[in-house]
Amino acid sequence: MSIEKLDRQKLDPIKFTKRQQERIKKKYQNRCALCWLGTGDGVDICVTHKQESIDGGSSSIENGLVLCTEHSKIRYDAELNHTKTYTALMLKVAKHRKNKNMENLYSEVLEMHEKYNINR
Ligand SMILES: [Zn+2]
Repeated sequence: MSIEKLDRQKLDPIKFTKRQQERIKKKYQNRCALCWLGTGDGVDICVTHKQESIDGGSSSIENGLVLCTEHSKIRYDAELNHTKTYTALMLKVAKHRKNKNMENLYSEVLEMHEKYNINR
């Protein structure tokens, strides 16, 4: 097992059940929350946590998030560095693109930073 795989598991140790994953995918219409591409476009998606469990996020449906593999990797890389800065930047991008879904997502993530007092 690679170091990257080990780190990823540490970052997100609490998994959703298969049933939860299906419900979360349905909620996001089998599409990435960021680029809105999905299985129908031939893009692989995965279910992850909005607030990572290592930062206090629960494995509830409400804390579920669907990302494509590309955005999952970008998000993971950002998690290891400075999530809050990345989120604030992506919120600006969302507003600029007038993408309400993206804007809502990043607003929620920023609110969670405040809620859990995470400033990285
Ligand atoms: Zn995506």
